[in-house]
Amino acid sequence: MRKITIAIDGFSSCGKSTMAKSLARSIGYLYFDSGAMYRAVSLYCLEQGISDGDNIDVEKLKASMHKIRITFECDTETKNSITFLNGENVETEIRSLRVSRIVSKVAALDFVRSEMIAQQREMGKQKGFVMDGRDIGTTVFPDAEMKIFVTASAEVRAQRRFDELKNRGDNPDYNEILENVLQRDHLDQTREISPLRKADDAILLDNSHMTLDEQQDWLYKKFSELTKE
Ligand code: C5P
Repeated sequence: MRKITIAIDGFSSCGKSTMAKSLARSIGYLYFDSGAMYRAVSLYCLEQGISDGDNIDVEKLKASMHKIRITFECDTETKNSITFLNGENVETEIRSLRVSRIVSKVAALDFVRSEMIAQQREMGKQKGFVMDGRDIGTTVFPDAEMKIFVTASAEVRAQRRFDELKNRGDNPDYNEILENVLQRDHLDQTREISPLRKADDAILLDNSHMTLDEQQDWLYKKFSELTKE
């Protein structure tokens, strides 16, 4: 069967990475989480005093970009990908709210985007992968054969994020999360470079009222239709 490129874009906390991971696993494709890269750059900013948790010292970050190395490794047990920042496993830390608070500001910087996009294209040189993000089907891989644009109501998304953090042992505040979701939607849609938008040839998926199994069946069906000879 011919291998294709699968781009999954959409709003934050829509469950893009869950669906991308399980689709990749079921069809034997690699999975790349582009948001993890922007999150890793954001964590670097917090750790190096480039951000106070609110603002970013843009010139300092620009001068430090060459020191930031982001790599992925596959967890041999869970088969999930783990994000490394300069050799350190940061998979848990990059999902924290303090990183979520600044990531859309970091991701709006042109020099950050151009560096990440170059790395994403390098990672996706060979077909047979699923990559999720905001601009994968529009900017990074505009020729992707399968493009999905995911959406769900802001309240549903905030609740999912809340449950995820709670299950992890954190003590999250629902309203703070909802505010963060809305703020990131706004920043992602209104930034100048590669704003979040549905590619004309992307298929819309509103998963507000879908179970994970229904969603997985839906995706698998689309994949099968596209790849049948
Ligand atoms: O997907 P995730 O929520 O982890 O992404 C974190 C943030 O990174 C997003 O809110 C968005 O601002 C940014 N991002 C982006 N382009 C991508 C992936 C993520 O701007 N391709």
